[in-house]
Amino acid sequence: MAHPDDPEFGTGGTTAKWAREGKEIAYVIVTDGSKGSDDPEMTWEKLVPLRQVEQRAAAQVLGVKEVFFLTHRDGELMPDLNVRRDICREIRRWKPDVVFTHDPTTRYGFPGFVNHADHRATGNATLDAVFPAAGNRLYFPELLAMGFEPHKVRQILLTGNPNPDFFVDITDSIEVKVESLREHKSQIKDVDGLAKRLMERHQKIGEAHNMKYAEGFKSLKMG
Ligand SMILES: [Zn+2]
Repeated sequence: MAHPDDPEFGTGGTTAKWAREGKEIAYVIVTDGSKGSDDPEMTWEKLVPLRQVEQRAAAQVLGVKEVFFLTHRDGELMPDLNVRRDICREIRRWKPDVVFTHDPTTRYGFPGFVNHADHRATGNATLDAVFPAAGNRLYFPELLAMGFEPHKVRQILLTGNPNPDFFVDITDSIEVKVESLREHKSQIKDVDGLAKRLMERHQKIGEAHNMKYAEGFKSLKMG
């Protein structure tokens, strides 16, 4: 995902549920989160380590053991070959069955919502890293030389798609999702207001699928 806090917002309930079931989950955060503040006293130098601490704490709440920061500059991400290579390397390192990322085609949505440029860039770079780069040994030979063997991902689950087709029942983990978001203190001032909005949103997603609360994703099965 692009920024610290994106995984909690997009996948927190699913992550907590899957971690409880014994699945191993690693985060790869693409940017350094250095623009996530309106405080005139805040600086990049203070914000980057603060957001890493918050991200690690939130991950711990959900049961995520590994958090890796690629630290590209927040707000300036381009889905170029460097970013694709970095993500490809992490896919080959962790060898995931499933990769979560942002839907790069979501440009805007409900009234007033403009999707962040870094989300689109991260989604684009990640899709291109998963296929074909991560699974093909002729892509990025420098990674192979460093010992990163090719790996084929089985499924991609996209967040932020307005028409999800893969639903996870998060009735038993939505409270943990809210708890994990509490760790992002530099980002979220009104956690109780946010919790109310999240409950409403996940209830609405779950309604049509006989679930009390659900997260929805666009699923891409690979091969
Ligand atoms: Zn974000």
